[in-house]
Amino acid sequence: MALVTGANRGLGFETARQLLTRGLTVVLAGRDLAALARARRSLGEQEQRRAVTVQMDVTSVESIAAARQTLTAQVGSVDVLVNNAAVLLGENDDVLSITAEEYRQTFETNLFGMIDVCRAFVPAMTHARYGRIVNVSSGAGQLATMSAYAPAYSISKAAVNAFTRILASTCRAGGVLVNAVDPGWVRTDMGGPSAPRSPQEGADTIVWLATLPNDGPSGGFFRDRRAIDW
Ligand code: NDP
Repeated sequence: MALVTGANRGLGFETARQLLTRGLTVVLAGRDLAALARARRSLGEQEQRRAVTVQMDVTSVESIAAARQTLTAQVGSVDVLVNNAAVLLGENDDVLSITAEEYRQTFETNLFGMIDVCRAFVPAMTHARYGRIVNVSSGAGQLATMSAYAPAYSISKAAVNAFTRILASTCRAGGVLVNAVDPGWVRTDMGGPSAPRSPQEGADTIVWLATLPNDGPSGGFFRDRRAIDW
């Protein structure tokens, strides 16, 4: 069973849709149950049958724990985790003028939320000796090319990349593959209408990493199914 965070819209929804078309049972997790229900209804009939929705605010450990409890009781265990939920705040502010609150909110969602979701779901994967974890990062978090753009977001995504490497090393012997992905610039609420990529194109590498074979890579950063610099 796959779980996608922030799956009510954008890349999270498209990733869930593509995983469903491949025959997986997919949990669409998000903050807003009504938005999740609308997203689920927009799926094809066959996909809807394997689509489960659950309320999960990644910034709340209580919400994550409640979602895990519900899923364990009603659906089963998660073996594919796509950490997609994120916010982009203070995009045009500079590194010193962006507010402390914007830094905190960004890190609460993009980094600490991801870590807390992993704390909740990765131990069962390690125990089962099978798991695929995809951390949706960004080219903005790539240290090799980092600029002044979106400081809080970019720093949080660089930290996501560091977390990915450390978690991959921790899971190395256990059949759990952990990778980070840059989906490219994608037409979503976050990416805006001028982005060159469709959500379908943006989700491709996410889905590829979520369905890697047992001898697939771990601890890498990928764009267009190719490893890229950190
Ligand atoms: P959107 O803004 O379109 O969607 C973001 C999703 O994250 C929404 O479902 C939102 O839910 C959810 N979310 C935000 N905060 C929380 C929270 N606290 N708990 C649970 N869910 C939350 O963004 P995209 O689809 O474009 O982005 C998806 C991922 O791709 C992100 O990690 C982003 O950084 C990354 N990315 C996107 C790029 C782009 O060009 N679009 C480029 C590079 C990376 P809600 O509706 O409740 O707000």
